[in-house]
Amino acid sequence: MQPSLEKLRKFFRLEHENGYANTAIIGGLAKMLDFWEGEARADGIKEEVIQAVVQRLRSYDGLSPQSRTDALKGLWKRIGDTYPDTQQKPRQNPPEGQSKPRDVQAPREEQQKPTPSQPQADLPKPDPSASSGPRPEQREQKPRPPVQPRSESVVGAKTSATPAALDAKLTVLQGVGPRHAETLAKLGMYTLGDMLYYFPRRYDDYSQLKPIKDLFYSEQVTVIGTIQSVHTRPIRGGKASIIETIISDGTGGLRLSFFNQPWLANRFKQGDAISVSGKIDQYLGRLVMNSPDWESVDVENLHTNRIVPIYSLTEKINQKWLRNLMKQVIEYWAPNVADALPESVRNSARVVPLGEALLQIHFPDSQEKLKAARERLAFDEIFYLQMGVLRQKRDWKSVDARRFSISDEWLASRLTGLPFTLTSAQQTAIADIRVDLDSGKPMNRLLQGDVGSGKTVVAAIAAGVITSNGAQAAIMAPTSILAEQHYRSFTDLLKDVLKPEEIRLLIGDTPEAEKEEIRNGLASNTIKIVIGTHAVIEGPVQFAELQFAVIDEQHRFGVEQRAELRSKGTNPHLLVMTATPIPRSLALTLYGDLDISIMNEMPVGRQPINTYVLRPQERERAFTLLRGQIKDKKQAFIIYPLIDESEKIEARAAVDDYETLSKEVFPDLKLGLLHGRMRPAEKDDVMLKFRDKKFDILVSTTVVEVGVDVPNATVMVIEGADRFGLAQLHQLRGRVGRGSDQSYCLLILTHEDNSENERLQAMTESNDGFVLAEKDLQIRGPGEFLGTRQSGYASGLRMASITDVKLIEKARTQAQKLFEQDADLSKSENSLLAEAFGRFWGEGKGDVS
Ligand code: ADP
Ligand code: MG
Repeated sequence: MQPSLEKLRKFFRLEHENGYANTAIIGGLAKMLDFWEGEARADGIKEEVIQAVVQRLRSYDGLSPQSRTDALKGLWKRIGDTYPDTQQKPRQNPPEGQSKPRDVQAPREEQQKPTPSQPQADLPKPDPSASSGPRPEQREQKPRPPVQPRSESVVGAKTSATPAALDAKLTVLQGVGPRHAETLAKLGMYTLGDMLYYFPRRYDDYSQLKPIKDLFYSEQVTVIGTIQSVHTRPIRGGKASIIETIISDGTGGLRLSFFNQPWLANRFKQGDAISVSGKIDQYLGRLVMNSPDWESVDVENLHTNRIVPIYSLTEKINQKWLRNLMKQVIEYWAPNVADALPESVRNSARVVPLGEALLQIHFPDSQEKLKAARERLAFDEIFYLQMGVLRQKRDWKSVDARRFSISDEWLASRLTGLPFTLTSAQQTAIADIRVDLDSGKPMNRLLQGDVGSGKTVVAAIAAGVITSNGAQAAIMAPTSILAEQHYRSFTDLLKDVLKPEEIRLLIGDTPEAEKEEIRNGLASNTIKIVIGTHAVIEGPVQFAELQFAVIDEQHRFGVEQRAELRSKGTNPHLLVMTATPIPRSLALTLYGDLDISIMNEMPVGRQPINTYVLRPQERERAFTLLRGQIKDKKQAFIIYPLIDESEKIEARAAVDDYETLSKEVFPDLKLGLLHGRMRPAEKDDVMLKFRDKKFDILVSTTVVEVGVDVPNATVMVIEGADRFGLAQLHQLRGRVGRGSDQSYCLLILTHEDNSENERLQAMTESNDGFVLAEKDLQIRGPGEFLGTRQSGYASGLRMASITDVKLIEKARTQAQKLFEQDADLSKSENSLLAEAFGRFWGEGKGDVS
């Protein structure tokens, strides 16, 4: 089975095991799309299968568990129709290194019978001076992803100086037999070394508790107390029950109610200490907590370690047992690990030694030391990444490339032919590119510009520089619609320097005979520019002199495809373009090896797109505005989240609504329909007709999302807008406002009560892709941005946050400094680092393009 399908199967199975709670991936299944799409293309998965997966997973979050079950099963079956080998029975054991996700998502209760604590044990006197809420920070921390990497794959974890004993199996430990070892293996722990890197999921900080007498209504707190009484009370005529218990910490009593969890009656024993966390409510004038999270408290810990690690568990082991085992191993071995980070770097970055960090991450002496430990481990993650991108950048520049230059006159006459003047951002980008092309080293540049900022013309001029020096250029776009559009733009922009037959379009649908002719033309250098989809890199295509490769909407492609395109030439210059604005922190991290040109300026005359959120019953208002615009000879898009209603999904569906819209709502207007299940040629046909104003309205799924340019369109109606991600909404909105007329974006909710939507709010507040990207990063975390790029690495980040600009800059500064002094890491003080670095980057993670 192709790796991407195998991956899909794994996640689907996890999701099944989790009861379709959309927890197989932190943040939801849709998060896998960015990396998966590229991987699937790289695996050569059929486009319609990819689109089916994309459509289903995007809307997955909004479904009920039943519809989710249907959606995933239906999807898997559909994949099976195309790829029968996916339907064999999967292996029963969870894949290596993947603990059962249930453990992570489990409530705070111990998985097993709680360790009985000593009855009537004295609780530590809470410190009344600790007035503000205790440890909410750890409480609310999201559980880490279920995948616990083996220590081997952790950066800097292993070198030749690592004590051999860390490779020992866990059965060497007192009290760990083969059965226990097997259980621990499920958590990803096979060796002593793995234990060092099995980090706590969170901590309970018993040094910062709030006394019960100081609690007040509506606050969110954690308290510890001993159970005074337990009562079960039937309610609703015996159909349900409430368990009421009172806990006391010596300063006061707090009533806890647990609704309909009758088994708790046997779990709560008078005199046991428990910690509870939740919101303080009021009932009959007294403070209560309703169904709080709870955990039995290991009283010994209260005396000794005041910040107690809580590990993810699996069946058959409990917290106390694992913690004791950890304690033995960590306290002995953490101080003995070899630190690959040279002392000079450590000192200058002010990070603690590795041994200290490992010790403190498990058994922190204080919050400060815990923080320092996290920082050190996070530093390593980013530092190695930065070293890697610097190395890649150097490698890329270590080869020679052909020089290309043009005269200022040549450029000026291209520009005078344009129907507009370039923005200064476009001019700067072109200047950057001219310098690169004439540098003798291969260009490796990312052109980042918001939707509509005019990247195409920059790429076309760069291609012109190449072809006027007799060499060839290839342009690769993610969809045939886009390729076709570029083909027209390039032909037009370069009409004075290239004959029409010197620029060709090559897509999957190009007839075989024509493909053959194009291949011959490329091989003999009679064709100068080829523009297309991934068809451009398919095996038989050979170039006589490929010197320039452009990849548009680069996040849509897999690393392999970029590498393949590049390999069609000898050290060709490379330009990758993206409309996905990348927050600075990410740009520095993931694109550190590229030179970046940012076009943060829109062509003159563009007006911000007026954006409104409408409730479903306000749809008519949207249609009224739309009619008004069409009267003014403008055009409109109506976007739907799904293709059809086969999945019993509530979302309005393009195919179904197209019928209603064209027959009942707009019988007087011309409507076109576009969706992912159409053949590329059909899609192009519809797009062309829309561009040529043969349709007033284009009803579409998200296939129009990237790049499509129809400046006459001024209205974008998005149905079920709450189902889309922010980046995607921004992309969709970017299909209008591409001319100088006022444009509108109308976001229609699936349900009235979805109006409290942060993303939609952000859309109404800003038209700026960078602002929205920062916002998206805050709302959704970095997953959305990663794409396939370095995703192997980024998903391995456990301690570092990709949003932590300060840490990233620190690591970058250190990496640069070291790189300047000893780029090959050949000095003796850097030898361990060299080894660890080689281990890590030797695995082929990341790519220069
Ligand atoms: P994107 O950066 O999203 O790929 P395009 O290259 O498709 O944007 O350009 C969007 C539209 O803006 C096109 O219709 C293009 O002709 C037009 N355009 C590009 N540059 C300028 C400019 N400097 N002034 C006016 N219009 C421009
Ligand atoms: Mg574009």
